Amino acid sequence: MAKIRTGFVSNSNSSNYVCDICGNSDEGSYDISLRELKMYQCVGGHYICESHTEPLERADYIEFIKKCDHWDVNDIISMEDEEIIELCENDYSIRYNFPKTNCPICNLKHINDDTILTYLQQVLKIDINTVRKQIRTKYSNLDEFKEGIQNK
Ligand SMILES: [Zn+2]
Ligand SMILES: [Zn+2]
Repeated sequence: MAKIRTGFVSNSNSSNYVCDICGNSDEGSYDISLRELKMYQCVGGHYICESHTEPLERADYIEFIKKCDHWDVNDIISMEDEEIIELCENDYSIRYNFPKTNCPICNLKHINDDTILTYLQQVLKIDINTVRKQIRTKYSNLDEFKEGIQNK
């Protein structure tokens, strides 16, 4: 799936994580972990800030542990909630395996531009290249475009 990014994207490694919802990133910091950034990557590949999702619950953590081959569910089933949460939060892999069911993009609580674009093309049959041509015909630059659409 093509990523749509706005603004300047540098070639350096310093901007690995960009939130697919708000665009928040690790800009300027090198080699920072998702945990430090308070971000997750969902199983579907989306990067999201913790703040966009409900906190995970015990059942969510247990589901996560079930999927991790380095843990045995039998070892944790009798643990208190706090212990389970601590265990999971200290395992870096949960940051990269955030459940799709809790990801606002995957569960469509947040519909991102990629999803809208796909819908426009595939369902509403809007030809994006025709749209591009129309925009170029009507406006000669982005400032003109912004001005033009304000008067609509
Ligand atoms: Zn965000
Ligand atoms: Zn997702």
